[in-house]
Amino acid sequence: MPAPSAPIQEVKKTTCYMCACRCGIRVHLVDGQVRYIDGNPEHPLNQGVICAKGSSGIMKQYSPARLTKPLLRKPGSERGAGEFEPISWEQAFSILFERLAKIRATDPKKFAIFTGRDQMQALTGLFARQFGTPNYAAHGGFCSVNMAAGMIYTIGGSFWEFGGPDLDRAKLFVMIGTAEDHHSNPMKIALSKFKRNGGRFVSINPVRTGYSAIADEWVPIRPGSDGALLLAIIHEIIAQGLYDRDFLVRYTNAGQLVNLDEKSDEFGMFLRTEVPEEEGCFDPQNKLWWDRASNKPVITHTEGCDPFLLGEFRLADGTPVKPSFQLLQERVKDYTPEWAEGLTGIPAATIKRLAYEMGVTARDQKIELPIAWTDSWGKDHDTVTGNPVAFHAMRGLAAHSNGFHTIRALAILMSLLGTIDRPGGFRHKAPFPRPIPPCAKTPNTPLAVKPNSVLDGMALGWPAEPDDLFVDDSGNPVRIDKAFSWEYPLSVHGLMHNVITNAWRGDPYRIDTLLIFMANMAW
Ligand code: SF4
Repeated sequence: MPAPSAPIQEVKKTTCYMCACRCGIRVHLVDGQVRYIDGNPEHPLNQGVICAKGSSGIMKQYSPARLTKPLLRKPGSERGAGEFEPISWEQAFSILFERLAKIRATDPKKFAIFTGRDQMQALTGLFARQFGTPNYAAHGGFCSVNMAAGMIYTIGGSFWEFGGPDLDRAKLFVMIGTAEDHHSNPMKIALSKFKRNGGRFVSINPVRTGYSAIADEWVPIRPGSDGALLLAIIHEIIAQGLYDRDFLVRYTNAGQLVNLDEKSDEFGMFLRTEVPEEEGCFDPQNKLWWDRASNKPVITHTEGCDPFLLGEFRLADGTPVKPSFQLLQERVKDYTPEWAEGLTGIPAATIKRLAYEMGVTARDQKIELPIAWTDSWGKDHDTVTGNPVAFHAMRGLAAHSNGFHTIRALAILMSLLGTIDRPGGFRHKAPFPRPIPPCAKTPNTPLAVKPNSVLDGMALGWPAEPDDLFVDDSGNPVRIDKAFSWEYPLSVHGLMHNVITNAWRGDPYRIDTLLIFMANMAW
C-alpha cells in the first residue's frame, strides 16, 4: 500500500462495488496501487457523495483476510475442520472441469449454482442455462424478492431498480421498512433536497437510526407487522372516502366486475368478453364495468361510461357480480385501526391521522404539469396530474413470511391514493412497468433438463397459472430449492435460503455439487 504522503499520480473513475447502489467513485493511485477512494462529483447518481463503506472498498485490495488463491481441503482432513491448502488456478479449473463435465453428461440438475448479490446475473444465469441445470438463483430469495414479486404482480414494477419516489415534487414522503443500505447515497441526497423544499418526511421503522433520525415524524412499529398497518390505512382511506376515484376507474381494475357465482368454474375471476387475444403475454382488455348511467354491464373504458365502484349486480343470466373495489372494501372491513394497534403497537389515533394526512395531501395538493400525453386506451390528456404522496419501502417489509402480501397492501394503498406513475408519487424506470405478470416463464416439465444440453427455458420466471409451475407429472418440484412448485409458486427469484438445507437432506432429490458463488450473506 502506498505511503500516505506519496503524491497521487493517477485517478481512475469507476463505480463502487461495496453495495448495490453503484455510486460513481474516483480511485486515486500511486505507482498503480490504490491510495484512497472518494466520490465522483460528476456522477449523476451520488454527485460526489461517498459513504464509509464505499471508501473502505480499498480493503478489497489490501485486507490481509482476503483469499488470493483457491483453497483445497487437506487430504485426510475432516469436513468442517477448516484445514485447507492453496492450489494453483490451473489445478482448480481442472478439478472443476472433470467434475462438472461428468455431471453435465449424466444429469445436469445434479449441479446447483446459487449466487450472492453478485450483480452479474446475466452472466451467471447464462452459464447455468448453458450448463443445462434448472438449479440456479441469486440472493433475492432471502432478501427483497417479496418487494419485487408483490409489487410487480400488482402494479408491474417495484422500488429501486424498477422505480422509486419522485422526491423532487412530493409533499409527503413515507418511508417504511427501509435500512440505509438500500439506495443509500442517492436517497440521502434526495432527502436533504426534499426537506429543504419544505416536504414532510414520516419514517415508519422499529428503530430510530439512519434515515429515521432526520424524519419529521418517526413512527415505531413492531417488526413484521407492517402489513397490518397498511391494511388499516387502506380501511381508513376507503371509510373516509379519501381514495382517488378518477384514478381508480381509469388506471386500475377497481371497477371491473368479478364473477361471484360459487357454482361456476369462473367463481372469483374477472368477467371477460370474447376479444381477439393480443400477441405476447398482455392481459386482454376484455373485462366489464357496471355503467352508472345505463345500469348495464359495458366493456371497460367505453367512452362516456362511468362504472360503479361499489355495489352488487346480476347479469341477465342471473350471475351475481361485484366490482373488485367492493370486494376490497369487504376484505378490509375488519382491519380497523384499533385492530392494527394490537398488532403493530401504533396507537389507533396515529394510524387514523396518518391515513387522513396521506388522503388529504393526495387530494388537496394536486400537481398539474403542462405536458400533453395519451393514455393506454388512446385518450388524450392536456396535462399530467400528480398526487404528491411518495413512498419508499424495502426489506423491512419484504423479508418476512407475510412480505408478499404486505407489499401487495402497499401497492394497493398507493393505487388508492392515485400516486402511481405520477409526479410527486411513484415513478417507474424504463423498461418498467411490465405486463402483470411479466412474460418470462420457467419450463413446466422435467423434460427441459437433458444430458449435455442447454436448459430448455429460463431458470427463473413469473408463473401466471398452475400450468406454468415447474413440476413433474405428479406435481413434484423439478428444482432443488422447490421454487415454482405448489409449495412456493411465486418464488420469482428462486429460494437461496432453501438450497443448502435441501441439498443436505436430498429433498426433493440428491445433487452432486452445490456451487455458492460470491454469496456474502451479510450483504
Ligand atoms: S452507498 Fe456507499 S457502499 Fe453503496 S455504492 Fe455508494 S459509496 Fe458504495
